[in-house]
Amino acid sequence: MSALGLTGARFGVTITAVQGVHWRGLGACRGLDAAVFYPETDEDADVAKGVCSGCDVRRACLTFALQSREKQGVWGGCTERERRRLVRQGHSAP
Ligand code: SF4
Repeated sequence: MSALGLTGARFGVTITAVQGVHWRGLGACRGLDAAVFYPETDEDADVAKGVCSGCDVRRACLTFALQSREKQGVWGGCTERERRRLVRQGHSAP
């Protein structure tokens, strides 16, 4: 398990959750200003990361972002730069 709590190299369990549950509607960001999750710099991402840190669907959200190669925004508590790092470390979606 990585520091981010991801299991396995291929996210088998989490992918099922992404496909089988409307996880977006369960996110802690629901109803918040979306602009918070699209900071101009990584240094401005702390507010979004704080919301994500208490989110019940964080893993599903991060898996979705890795799978879809989201280029912008904070997803699953990770900025785009951090997601690129995860992919380089082998945490890519199948
Ligand atoms: S992890 Fe963050 S961006 Fe994803 S649903 Fe939860 S609060 Fe929203």
